[in-house]
Amino acid sequence: MPVESVFPRLEALLPHVQKPIQYVGGELNSTVKDWDACDVRWALMYPDAYEVGLPNQGVMILYEVLNEREGVLAERTYSVWPDLEALMREQGVPQFTVDAHRPVKAFDVFGLSFSTELGYTNMLTALDLAGIPLAAADRTDEDPIVLAGGHAAFNPEPVAEFIDCAVVGDGEQAVLDITAIVRAWKAEGRPGGREELLLRLAKTGGVYVPRFYDVEYLPDGRIARVVPNAPGVPWRVSKHTVMDLDEWPYPKQPLVPLAETVHERMSVEIFRGCTRGCRFCQAGMITRPVRERSITGIGEMVERGLKATGFEEVGLLSLSSADHTEIGDIAKGLADRYTEDKIGLSLPSTRVDAFNIDLANELSRNGRRSGLTFAPEGGSERIRKVINKMVSEEDLINTVATAYGNGWRQVKLYFMCGLPTETDDDVLQIGTMAKNVIQKGREVTGQNDIRCTVSIGGFVPKPHTPFQWAPQLSAEDTDARLAKLRDSIRGDRKYGKNIGFRYHDGKPGIVEGLLSRGDRRIGAVIRAVYEDGGRFDGWREYFSYDRWMAGAEKGLAGTGVDVAWYTTRERGYEEVLPWDHLDSGLDKDWLWEDWQDALEEVEVDDCRWTPCFDCGVCPQMDTTIQIGPTGKKLLPLTVVNQGADQPKGAGV
Ligand code: SF4
Repeated sequence: MPVESVFPRLEALLPHVQKPIQYVGGELNSTVKDWDACDVRWALMYPDAYEVGLPNQGVMILYEVLNEREGVLAERTYSVWPDLEALMREQGVPQFTVDAHRPVKAFDVFGLSFSTELGYTNMLTALDLAGIPLAAADRTDEDPIVLAGGHAAFNPEPVAEFIDCAVVGDGEQAVLDITAIVRAWKAEGRPGGREELLLRLAKTGGVYVPRFYDVEYLPDGRIARVVPNAPGVPWRVSKHTVMDLDEWPYPKQPLVPLAETVHERMSVEIFRGCTRGCRFCQAGMITRPVRERSITGIGEMVERGLKATGFEEVGLLSLSSADHTEIGDIAKGLADRYTEDKIGLSLPSTRVDAFNIDLANELSRNGRRSGLTFAPEGGSERIRKVINKMVSEEDLINTVATAYGNGWRQVKLYFMCGLPTETDDDVLQIGTMAKNVIQKGREVTGQNDIRCTVSIGGFVPKPHTPFQWAPQLSAEDTDARLAKLRDSIRGDRKYGKNIGFRYHDGKPGIVEGLLSRGDRRIGAVIRAVYEDGGRFDGWREYFSYDRWMAGAEKGLAGTGVDVAWYTTRERGYEEVLPWDHLDSGLDKDWLWEDWQDALEEVEVDDCRWTPCFDCGVCPQMDTTIQIGPTGKKLLPLTVVNQGADQPKGAGV
């Protein structure tokens, strides 16, 4: 049956909303496939506005991986702003995809990628606008399977009531495996309805279906155990890991946005995973092991992607891009290759100890010399040992001195406040570090116009990290500590006016903490906040702490637990954590030992360069660390057939 486009009805609303272009679709490299020629259809959502959602690499990759397959179709949908939401409700226009403006309810699978928990209320808005019941239990065979992925899905319990299933880890192969199961079930005439389909997915051991697990609680509110309640459903659900990134050179044809977005560049993920072992970093822990894309693979992706898009900047993405074993050759090779085209290169995340000035010079060669940003994360040497961020102040000052000596004038430093065991003194040392940076800059350059900006975020303990047991600092204590730092910086006559100070108050961190370490009882809170008008919680102008606290009071009434219980309470070794049945590969005992090491200020090395220290991931997931150097050269890239779309050979 053909599915009608809602565009004619939507079009009439667009003159009355802000930035209507974001709802129109038809971007360069977008795809619209014949609905009837496909038997498995995915609607993919990044649950935020177009300007944030469109550049999301995860969605872009899955969109292409699925659309490349015959008989499979994928379209994108983003959160609509409240002005359009109101009109859609008024006029009965459902949540739609931007590609062919098809109603989301008509698809087989509605996949949402959550990089942060603050997108949960946007999911509920989209479900409701789509005409899909909010509670998974109320859905029928007419509704799509609602599937969550992304880093937040490593603890999907707070949204267990609203999703049908979740996938943890890399999505490329996983979406194809799910497609095959959906296809077979449809071809057989949908035996057993959606219950049977979900059971088939759950039995693979790689798809978490909350309805097949019962949670039992202890009288004190902690979880007693999580038990499968259907035959053949495994006790634990495994993470997916793609081993050879060169086999997955996506996106090949990146989307070029129609409206302004947060990034407008060609992005290439140069490696996945990180074993630096920063204890606060959930992304590093859950994406182990390190898997590098080869230097030739990177060169081919950049060449093809630039041709396909016309972008003038290439972002070399990863959790710590300067750690790629061949980063020097990659940066130099790309800067040489694209000198004439003035293609700029950027490394969105750089560690102080992996940074060197040759690399920085290569990166800035074809573009602007913008400021340098480093993330020491902790102000004192002691707290950096606690978090395992092995950067000494000496390293930082030396790096910065070299940068100033080479013409940079602006340095930004990122820190966190509220780290486990932190005291006021640890945070006050952030100011001392900034002063030392400026002093060194003045010494090296002989000039006084040296600036250093410190930017500080509140620390939120995350699942599957050694800090998953840690108490979170309350919003009041975070604010008080940061006020002391601000006063000490402002009171410094010599350096105060050269130090920029940016920080967020502690309240959003408490909501993020509640959602990230929450269990199924938090579903009622999310629903209460949504019903009270909660939307776009990642946006300062929409976020309301009071709304969340009111929602928590309502949602948690009668449970015996509250916001503090989920956030500022320290957990013990024996406690069953809400996400224990989702297997990230990390051994829970290893995480606990690492937590004890943190308390004793003991550091742990990076297993890329030292023997394996048994975090559990490689044996558990049947994976290995995969790094170079390969000895290959990136460029020159020799295009032997000028007429072809893609480069045919890479010179070695
Ligand atoms: S299992 Fe060993 S080699 Fe693999 S990520 Fe963990 S520590 Fe590193």
